[in-house]
Amino acid sequence: MVGVSCALALQKRGFTVTLIDRREPGSETSYGNAGVISRSSIVPLNNPSLWQSLPAYLRNDHAAIRYRLGHLLRNPGWILRFLAEARPSRLAPRIAALDSLTSHALPMHKQWMAEAGVSQRLRETGWLKLWRSEAGPEKAKAEQLWFEDHSVRSEPLDRQALSGLEPDLNPIFTAGLWHKDSASVDWPQAVVAAYAAMFAARGGRIVQAVVAGLSATPSGWKADTEAGPFNAAIAVIAFGPWSADFLKPLGLDVPLNVERGYHRHYRAEDGRKLGRPLHDVEASYMLAPMERGYRLTSGVELAHRDAPSNHAQIDQVLPSAREAFALGEQVETTTWRGARPTLPDSLPMIGEAPRKPGLWLAFGNQHIGFSTGPVTGEILAALVTGETPPADPAPFSPRRYLK
Ligand SMILES: Cc1cc2nc3c(=O)[nH]c(=O)nc-3n(C[C@H](O)[C@H](O)[C@H](O)COP(=O)(O)OP(=O)(O)OC[C@H]3O[C@@H](n4cnc5c(N)ncnc54)[C@H](O)[C@@H]3O)c2cc1C
Repeated sequence: MVGVSCALALQKRGFTVTLIDRREPGSETSYGNAGVISRSSIVPLNNPSLWQSLPAYLRNDHAAIRYRLGHLLRNPGWILRFLAEARPSRLAPRIAALDSLTSHALPMHKQWMAEAGVSQRLRETGWLKLWRSEAGPEKAKAEQLWFEDHSVRSEPLDRQALSGLEPDLNPIFTAGLWHKDSASVDWPQAVVAAYAAMFAARGGRIVQAVVAGLSATPSGWKADTEAGPFNAAIAVIAFGPWSADFLKPLGLDVPLNVERGYHRHYRAEDGRKLGRPLHDVEASYMLAPMERGYRLTSGVELAHRDAPSNHAQIDQVLPSAREAFALGEQVETTTWRGARPTLPDSLPMIGEAPRKPGLWLAFGNQHIGFSTGPVTGEILAALVTGETPPADPAPFSPRRYLK
């Protein structure tokens, strides 16, 4: 999503752009997400409340967050910085930065989806956060007031209102918060593919090839690929969770880590339906209606990007999801795994690399990269051309981690 968005935004400004991806655009992290175009995901995971939850997470049996100790021990710098960002003084600036991105997410996607002819994939029905405990109604109300202060529209729902909005949801929830400024799509990959097709139709070139590395040339940058070298005046690194691999050989050591997640698709029993994605917060999963079934997504696994899968978290949440909604048989027998690319401050890196003129960076969009791909592309392209970007780029500057 991020690479295609950068390509489109640069093309719009008159650049001749070649998009190189080893797979079809939208086949990796941007394939398997919950498809939420979220206005309200402005509180990073590493916020001060993480400290209260930490003892429970440390037991390493929680569905929300699991970790592989060896991975954390091999990356002490990342985990310590990630935890350090959870201190109270760091919260407000990061919320403001994420807010500056998510406020553009839906308007930009709506425009691009209309231009790409895929508006029928967009559901402007928001998403639901749900509580099972007796404290649910109070929490929903408190969050609604908090979001109101941040100009984000949401509506607390009691049991009755919930069953009015989602009649096929089992009545196990005490309360919900309906995030009304958000939307969702019914197949994220198809949206990325449509954006890529629009880029190609406007004259952009898409090359399917593995990029082996990048190097500076007298006139710009060269990408070495199995399809031969590609030379350009500027290069944009938007390899999502693989981005740091390309920067290290250039002497740029980016503290990029991943928060892995899994999904599976299930059929609904008896023609039951959900009108929007839901987040069962106490059971730590999301369930999103998709073209090919109900997509159940798991929480966060802090493990090496390429380590073998561990289905413990998604296995753990399946019974909870079945309590909430009549999930039938699994659609495919496989379990998808992806890796959310995350920097310690949970903000993406958007801008030119220090000491490397013409090398531009756009990655690290963590849990909201599907939503914020287009605005990331627009910020990047505006910085390249010297225009005023749609959001203040300072919080996303590569210089916060690279000298
Ligand atoms: C379970 C889960 C649920 C999520 N839910 C949501 C959600 O509801 N809403 C939301 O906004 N976000 C969500 N996200 C986050 C979102 O999916 C990511 O932030 C986003 O997809 C990142 O996009 P990207 O373009 O940076 O990375 P990617 O989509 O991974 O793209 C990177 C690209 O680089 C290419 N590549 C890598 N190496 C090479 C190479 N050597 N040569 C050539 N090409 C290469 C890959 O093929 C790939 O296409 C979720 C993530 C997960 C895991």
